[in-house]
Amino acid sequence: MITDIFCKIINGEIPAEVVYQDDHVWVIKDIAPQAPVHFLIIPVKHFTGLDDVAEHDEALLGKLFRVAHDMAKKQNLDKGYRLVVNEGEHGGKLVPHLHIHLLGGKNLK
Ligand SMILES: [Zn+2]
Repeated sequence: MITDIFCKIINGEIPAEVVYQDDHVWVIKDIAPQAPVHFLIIPVKHFTGLDDVAEHDEALLGKLFRVAHDMAKKQNLDKGYRLVVNEGEHGGKLVPHLHIHLLGGKNLK
């Protein structure tokens, strides 16, 4: 049984500030934002990390980037933004469910 916080959010067990959702991708606000805009782009399908991603998942991963870009446009991040994937312990991954951080709204240099 998979019990990470993102699966619980998607299953309706834990509330979150949902920015966008469809059958494949959810976008929520990070509870500890590191920038004026800090969203998490989350696939509904559970991947613990990139080790779990198979060739047939490539379209879904591509969609994560497209949704991230759509969110950035909707937030008027015209001057740019940052997408981050933290992988594994040394990568600083906190939730064992693959996700992309979208950060923007200030100069992140
Ligand atoms: Zn999960």
